[in-house]
Amino acid sequence: MADLRDYTSLRVGGPAKKFVEVGTESEIIAAIEAAGDAPILIIGGGTNILVADSGFEGTVIRIVNHSLQAEVDACSGATLTIGAGENWDEFVAITIDRGFAGLETLSGIPGTVGAAPIQNIGAYGHEVSEFITRVRTYDREKKAVKTFTNLECEFTYRSSHFKEHPGRYVILDVQFNLRQGELSSPITYSELAAKLGIAVGEKAPINVVRTNVLELRAAKGMLLNPNDRDSWSAGSFFTNPIISKEVAEKLPEGAPRWPTSDGLVKTSAAWLIENSGIHKGDTHGGARISTKHVLALTNSGSATATEIAELARSAQQSVFEKFGINLVAEVNLIGVEL
Ligand SMILES: Cc1cc2nc3c(=O)[nH]c(=O)nc-3n(C[C@H](O)[C@H](O)[C@H](O)COP(=O)(O)OP(=O)(O)OC[C@H]3O[C@@H](n4cnc5c(N)ncnc54)[C@H](O)[C@@H]3O)c2cc1C
Repeated sequence: MADLRDYTSLRVGGPAKKFVEVGTESEIIAAIEAAGDAPILIIGGGTNILVADSGFEGTVIRIVNHSLQAEVDACSGATLTIGAGENWDEFVAITIDRGFAGLETLSGIPGTVGAAPIQNIGAYGHEVSEFITRVRTYDREKKAVKTFTNLECEFTYRSSHFKEHPGRYVILDVQFNLRQGELSSPITYSELAAKLGIAVGEKAPINVVRTNVLELRAAKGMLLNPNDRDSWSAGSFFTNPIISKEVAEKLPEGAPRWPTSDGLVKTSAAWLIENSGIHKGDTHGGARISTKHVLALTNSGSATATEIAELARSAQQSVFEKFGINLVAEVNLIGVEL
């Protein structure tokens, strides 16, 4: 019997009733069909899930299909089609080695290519949706392959059509369009620009951007590293709240306020948590707020899923009591409620 703690970066979670690894598209579809009406949990790297200590009463399908096709055209750049089971960061490294620009600021994000569109992964001023041209899926309801254009994916901040319809679509492969070139897009994230020693809006070589992003991430425990327990996490546990202008105006002076394109305001979940009295390194049993980044809930070594969830609830409660804002989990909760 597979223990899900062995397949998740938080290293918590009980047994799966049934566990299969699938390495080809036909195996993926066959495994889904074989599960029949039993509950299914699709996983890739397990870096964005919190699984209950009681485990999963159904079939866990771990996607490990590998494929990479590249077509390069002087006008339209590189069109790359990647199997869902490929490791995201290994794919990013390949694009940079081959001189394709675009994904450099997304270096070091753990997990698989197939999970990247689900929550529209993002970091250092860019989101993966900027580079995706299509996503090919298996529609479990219609029992047929369905391809989504970028627009049809309905990407938003840390969400997509797939996240909004949990369990329906299994991503088989993802197609990206990248520019050929040695220089990055303009760097819009001030912390990264400062690290690169350039002004915001300037460009830098893509391999240099990658190295600097990896260094920044490592310093925050946001790079998977078995020896760094601050990285025994699921990344940012909560999304940055998007609130009305009226609510934003009531926040204290120092609170970050980033206007969104639809007239709302995004604020920082990390700032809210830190200013509600929670500190880096705070513990609850074996669960711990990262010692490097207040937004990451971590397993200090012996945590249970229950303890991680209790720590998350206490952060939510502190922020709600202090600021009246409800933090929403970015992490996918499997058999766990906040
Ligand atoms: C240290 C650390 C740092 C992180 N930093 C970032 C960051 O900077 N930015 C960011 O956006 N995220 C970040 N994350 C979160 C995580 O890396 C991403 O969400 C990643 O895309 C998850 O990939 P995965 O393969 O591990 O997905 P899993 O955790 O295995 O699954 C996540 C969700 O996607 C579903 N899923 C997975 N594969 C498929 C598929 N092929 N088809 C359909 N559904 C699927 C699962 O059912 C689940 O709901 C971080 C996580 C960690 C641990």
